[in-house]
Amino acid sequence: MDDCVFCKIVAGEIPADIKYEDENILVFTDVNPQAPVHLLVIPKKHIENILDLENDVLLAQMFAIIKDLAPKFNLKNGFRLVNNCGKQAGQTVSHLHFHVLGGRRLGWPPG
Ligand code: AMP
Repeated sequence: MDDCVFCKIVAGEIPADIKYEDENILVFTDVNPQAPVHLLVIPKKHIENILDLENDVLLAQMFAIIKDLAPKFNLKNGFRLVNNCGKQAGQTVSHLHFHVLGGRRLGWPPG
């Protein structure tokens, strides 16, 4: 997608603090972190959100990577996964992503 900021990161057209990369998945630091650890886990393929997923293959890959990354980012005591799906939920970048937030005590409920 030409106007998608995350596709531009995947293509290397804009910089990002990349923490993990494989054939299908990219993980990088959120530019506006809401916690000491704030990673974004995205599929390289442009998929707008969960509702556009054709199957659960990418989801399984993303969750396996999140599990592997947790100890490396000191998240063993807990972290939060957030997916804002659609405008009403506050999705501002229309490219599927999971926020991984941790490194501090997190409040509940979210806004
Ligand atoms: P959401 O509001 O759930 O769609 O989350 C989009 C997230 O992408 C926000 O937390 C932004 O701070 C983050 N973001 C937007 N542009 C960039 C960028 N160029 N590099 C890293 N994170 C970004």
